[in-house]
Amino acid sequence: ALDKLFPRKTLGFFPSPLHKLERLSAMLDVEVWAKRDDVSSGLAYGGNKIRKLEWLVADALAKGCDTLVSIGNIQSNHTRQVCAAAAAVGMKSYTVQETWLEWDDPVYDKVGNILLTRIMGGNPIMGGYGYSTTEKDTWAKALEEVRAKGGKPYPIPAGASDHPLGGLGYANFADEVAMQEQQLGIFFDNVVVATCTGSTQAGMVVGFAAQEKRRRVIGIDTADDAAMTRRAVTKIANDTAELIASKGGKRVVVKDSDIEINPDYSGPAYGLPSEQTIAAIRTAAEMEAMLTDPVYEGKSIDGLMSMAKKGEFKGQRVLYAHLGGAPALNAYYKAFEDPEN
Ligand code: PLP
Repeated sequence: ALDKLFPRKTLGFFPSPLHKLERLSAMLDVEVWAKRDDVSSGLAYGGNKIRKLEWLVADALAKGCDTLVSIGNIQSNHTRQVCAAAAAVGMKSYTVQETWLEWDDPVYDKVGNILLTRIMGGNPIMGGYGYSTTEKDTWAKALEEVRAKGGKPYPIPAGASDHPLGGLGYANFADEVAMQEQQLGIFFDNVVVATCTGSTQAGMVVGFAAQEKRRRVIGIDTADDAAMTRRAVTKIANDTAELIASKGGKRVVVKDSDIEINPDYSGPAYGLPSEQTIAAIRTAAEMEAMLTDPVYEGKSIDGLMSMAKKGEFKGQRVLYAHLGGAPALNAYYKAFEDPEN
């Protein structure tokens, strides 16, 4: 329904696939399904930013911009997807690639996401330090550089999150889920999603709140700062709800209790996996051939499995929102080195 209110540029294959994780469900004694936003676009391995960028790219094109400018960590999935979206619509991209974590490996800034950005003819600008969703000098400088060259930049904040249109993609995801549920004759009582810069969870909260039947949206924090993540999700959810209502969409009121953030699986730090994260990644891979990464999805699948084992979902159905991220696995090969094979 949001398609009728806002322009959208198709960048993926939607609705994204939805399927039951048969072996994990049997192991956990809970019915677990996955909605595969990791395989829902042909643009450079896709991921959750593709779904968000459909609305930002439409806006950029309408405004006559020719260059997408964004920012993220060196191994950012987001900046790789910004570069991919730009390539696919014939725009340029400049992406500031900062150091948000210390991962001691000589290929960290060479393989995985950053490699794909280079192959796609992006302009990664290496530099800057520390995770933050606030505006950065490095980003402002990149915007200035584009203008100085006579280009017209379109600024996209980290994670395409704190942007007026950042929450639309995942508000629309909620409609997609409802449609698929109707086709299958099932209902997901719980949605488990990795959360960091916030617009994925925020969009979902708004989209699901507009539906009659209520469900739990459980954000598994990956920023390792649940208070910061909560602030981000709350702000974006309120902004998105307001935006949709202002265009004649259903007005929803976001309640504090709608925003659930679980802080238990994010350690030891943003971008660093715990032993438990790695074990969860192995389990999902060994049992379902479903690849998850040490930064985001490994933490959310760990959260889902751990919560299920604690009995949190007894007799209920759980939807795992797989948001992508596997290209970063290359940079984390050390975490999986096994002397025996
Ligand atoms: N999962 C993956 C694979 C991501 O790349 C990101 C991006 O930050 C997230 C989860 C978190 O999404 P968000 O930043 O919208 O909270």
